[in-house]
Amino acid sequence: MRKNRFGAIAAMAAVAALTLTACGGSDNAGDGEGDKVRIGIKFDQPGLGFQDGSTYTGFDVDVAKYVANELGYTEDKIEFVSAPSANRETLLETNQVDMIFATYTINDKRKERVGFAGPYFIAGQDLLVRADDSSITGKESLDGKKLCSVTGSTSAENVKKDVPGVSLVEQQGYADCLGLLETGSIDAITTDDIILAGLAATSANKGKFKVVGKPFSEEPYGVGLNKTNDKCEKINTAIKKMIDSGEWQKALDKNTEGTGYKPSALNPPTKFEACS
Ligand code: GLU
Repeated sequence: MRKNRFGAIAAMAAVAALTLTACGGSDNAGDGEGDKVRIGIKFDQPGLGFQDGSTYTGFDVDVAKYVANELGYTEDKIEFVSAPSANRETLLETNQVDMIFATYTINDKRKERVGFAGPYFIAGQDLLVRADDSSITGKESLDGKKLCSVTGSTSAENVKKDVPGVSLVEQQGYADCLGLLETGSIDAITTDDIILAGLAATSANKGKFKVVGKPFSEEPYGVGLNKTNDKCEKINTAIKKMIDSGEWQKALDKNTEGTGYKPSALNPPTKFEACS
């Protein structure tokens, strides 16, 4: 009897040990593979998410690294994956990435398919024009103009909804619109001010273009998650810690240096997603 009870307890202890091991191993940002975390970023947005060989730079990348580290993933455990605007929801839904930091505006339509933590930044939609163009001074002066934006972005959606009288060309990425603007096939590129500032400031583009500087929307950048991901609270805590520690400001300054970009007074964000 005694022996049996001891045996049962030993068996229970063994099960508990196994369970503990399993729990330890499953503390993953997105229940992805092993001890790696796959993070979706933009590869073609200088200052935000940019790939140069095996190096990734930008504000999104820096926030992603900070948050990943707070979740227990050192930099060598991060695999960066390209997340173009039109593919972000699908990448999360199909578990091809664990988190997305890719100038990803939090909105209700997207929340039908994915979850969000954050925001970690608040941008505003603006216009990029040729440096010598004085005809476009804001959203009100776009009648009859040709615009370029990106498929699957809020920028393209907002233009279609709010700016009648413009024609819109859609590309896969904002950098793909630059050649069209330079040659005159289009009159302006429209997306978030911080993205446009980064594109205009590269050495290849310097002096060619200017950001109009009259934002006409609010674009809170969230951390995109699969709906089953339970790390939203932890991610919010990490973002708050990054802001409070001064690291957020440092990262923003470093990545916008030389662009002339001034973040709006809505930054740093103070209100975060409820993580339902
Ligand atoms: N923030 C906007 C969006 O999420 C525009 C930038 C982008 O396409 O990433 O759609």
